[in-house]
Amino acid sequence: MRIDLRSDTLTQPTEAMLSVMMKAEVGDDVFGEDPTINALEDKVAQIFGHESGLYCPSGTMTNQIAINVHTRPGDEVICDQYAHIQLYEGGGLAANSGATATLLPGDRGRITAEQVASVLKADDPHFPSSRLVALENTSNKGGGSIYALEEMQKIKTLCDAKDLALHLDGARVFNALNVADYSARELGAQFDSISICLSKGLGAPVGSVLIGNKEFIYKARRVRKRFGGGMRQAGFIAAAGIYALDHHVDRLAEDHSHAKSIGAAFTEWASVAELVPVETNIVIVHFKPGVDAQKVVEAFREKGIYILALGPGTIRLVTHLDVTSEMITVLLEAIKSLGKIIDKMA
Ligand SMILES: *Cc1c(COP(=O)(O)O)cnc(C)c1O
Repeated sequence: MRIDLRSDTLTQPTEAMLSVMMKAEVGDDVFGEDPTINALEDKVAQIFGHESGLYCPSGTMTNQIAINVHTRPGDEVICDQYAHIQLYEGGGLAANSGATATLLPGDRGRITAEQVASVLKADDPHFPSSRLVALENTSNKGGGSIYALEEMQKIKTLCDAKDLALHLDGARVFNALNVADYSARELGAQFDSISICLSKGLGAPVGSVLIGNKEFIYKARRVRKRFGGGMRQAGFIAAAGIYALDHHVDRLAEDHSHAKSIGAAFTEWASVAELVPVETNIVIVHFKPGVDAQKVVEAFREKGIYILALGPGTIRLVTHLDVTSEMITVLLEAIKSLGKIIDKMA
């Protein structure tokens, strides 16, 4: 049994999902004639109370399109220092849009309205024009942390007052909504645009959706074409997204409970310096000096368990659709037995 916790992007389509995909009604989406894609775009927009949606090959593309539509070259994007748009999108913010980034030291990937206000630029030719604030919910590098509605509302109020756009990188927004005390519509009302990944915990093989108002999506559609993301009979993969939204949202609770038990098991290790609080499906463990994360990864791999080193002394485990309760049982046993070995390194 191979147990793979490197990422929630690793899921394989289920039989049921595949059979829905095979039967999808399709057309040329660049002509706007793929009924399955149109249905998916409308479905996601509706969930969050937005007007329109745009189906794209990846979450990187939906984020980068949003940045491109919201900014002009030289404009400033304000986000957390851990933000995926800045750290993990190939420098696209600068390369695709000529934007500059001001990075804030947030709390596990989450920034506050106060922090945003403290870096906003005056209207002065010396400065870049502050144009866009981007949040990430849940925060990937922040260990799956969730924003409070109140903070998003405060940031939205500030953005409105200062004429800034507010974008959400919602790659794992359904993980957040599964735990948070706010609805998709309450969250949706805070943002001008949201990027949602279908290929993470939701278990679709490909695809992300960008949502916003009609005018925003109209502009985004041109940028998608320019970035090479206009697809043709892609309804076959969009069908997997619809299936995932109908069947794989509520079950995220299972991933979250699995992640909690993994986190708890690591707290037994004397070599652990800090377990990042487990809020959703991501477990990040920081080790004490002397522990080589790569060695920890190798020790697990010998037991058929795949995890990721995030840095020299940090590991990450992500739960998802293909991680069963039986696998968690095996994993917890492995954590218990390896602890005695790894603890000797610290
Ligand atoms: C995975 C992810 C994305 C998009 O990644 P793609 O692989 O391009 O789909 C964007 N933001 C966050 C926070 C992510 O975790």
